Amino acid sequence: MNARRETHRPRARVLLGWVVLLALCPAITTHAQPGRVRPASAVEAGERAIADLRVEEAAELARAALRERPDDPRAIALMGVVAFHQGDYGSAVSHLERAGNVGELGELLTTVRATRDLLAPFVSARSVDGRYQVWHAPGPDALLVPYALDALQAADRYISGVLGHRVPGPIRLEIYPDARSLAQVSSLTVQDIERSGTIALCKWDRLMVTSPRALLHGYAWTDTISHELVHLILARASRDRAPVWVQEGIAKYLEGGYRRGAGTFALDAVSQGILHEAVAADALLPFERLHPSIALLPSQRDAALAFAQVSTFVHGFHSRYGNTGIVDVIRRMAADEDARDAFAAAAGAPFAELESRWRTDVRALPSPTRPRLLPRRLVAAMGAQDDTADVAELGAEARRRLRLGDLLYGRRRFGAAAHEYAAALVIAPEDPVVAARFARSALESGQAERAVEALRPVVATHPEYAPSAALLARALEASGQSAEAGRVAQQAIRLNPFDPAPHCVLSTAGPERERPAEAQRCASLGR
Ligand SMILES: [Zn+2]
Repeated sequence: MNARRETHRPRARVLLGWVVLLALCPAITTHAQPGRVRPASAVEAGERAIADLRVEEAAELARAALRERPDDPRAIALMGVVAFHQGDYGSAVSHLERAGNVGELGELLTTVRATRDLLAPFVSARSVDGRYQVWHAPGPDALLVPYALDALQAADRYISGVLGHRVPGPIRLEIYPDARSLAQVSSLTVQDIERSGTIALCKWDRLMVTSPRALLHGYAWTDTISHELVHLILARASRDRAPVWVQEGIAKYLEGGYRRGAGTFALDAVSQGILHEAVAADALLPFERLHPSIALLPSQRDAALAFAQVSTFVHGFHSRYGNTGIVDVIRRMAADEDARDAFAAAAGAPFAELESRWRTDVRALPSPTRPRLLPRRLVAAMGAQDDTADVAELGAEARRRLRLGDLLYGRRRFGAAAHEYAAALVIAPEDPVVAARFARSALESGQAERAVEALRPVVATHPEYAPSAALLARALEASGQSAEAGRVAQQAIRLNPFDPAPHCVLSTAGPERERPAEAQRCASLGR
């Protein structure tokens, strides 16, 4: 997709959580007097519409309500909430201030003001058709824009097809420079983010994603954009009535489909290992444990288990009942059916049977190699590119060999370093950190084939660890396997596009028409 770049101040947009609005406006739940059916006023209808995420209808109704009663605080508050959902933060703040800063609305106003202030210096880009808008801090994150727009377009097409629902757009993506910014504009704290590894959200009808620059090893940031887009489309299609376990199950299940195609879902090896252990120890989490958010689970391991459970449940359901089944479940939830009842009715089988089939499916998954979970680490929390914490789990001898290797590598004795790292790799085979160190020194000492051999398995088991993907791309290119080098370089960019290495690989091994741009990125990032 061609991105028409624009640099201007953000169109402000206001949003207010519907729960807050309901609390503010108890009249929403007030029933008509017996014997008298009073037609809903524009403001009441608007409040219901925004609660259902029927944002465009709510906007119409808010305008009508304000025409009728320009000084009605409820109508003004409704307009503020609508403006927040539409990204018009300046208007949202002014309406919410005028409506009166009371109770939970005050809390929302704080978030809306923080959002307005954070985004004030941001710049934006949009797709040619205007359907996708990306907002980011000026500077390095501009690099993300073309990739983000491509991912949005492909994911939108794929997800809308499966869920049977197309949102009217524009679809708004905000990329924050760090986790602190994400915390500022959401209800999460930096501690929540570090503990659970949550670095993106979909809330208030927009995608909120942290730049891969903020993570030490990158992360699957384009898949994350796709994941959040599932949430956005599903929230609208279900009138925001899908519980967290359904939201996360469908989002995790569909997130990679935009690039892998339908029917290609597979758990990564780490998640599969965690799921296997939980089954064996009879320690599966009840689906409700995911409420109110995976971000509030006690560890990244629990978060990984939760995602593994709900995504495999959705996988089993989708394999048996197809898009029709999923669309039926969503339609039922939108009509306020309980999620379990909705699955049962769509399948024509009791939920207990669906759950027991799922347990059977999970037990039948191929036996994993139990690779270890590498937690996401924020750059800010770690200081410089220090990965001491990543090797802390290794045994003493492996760590000793690594230290020796590091020392030799620092003295540019690459062959000797490779020798020490190889010894560590024997002790900790298929460890992503050890394999990456070995491969780096093997490459420097002209042993590209050995680097490829060490990296292939870890790139398969740890598809989110950017350093090994980037190194594998380089090693493949150095050993003359350019087609695969190009594919792996694309994978590395989907994890960390700020590393010059995959761009350098693509400047010679990528598609002809992209080579000049990649050469330019290779040069500018490498400086
Ligand atoms: Zn999610």
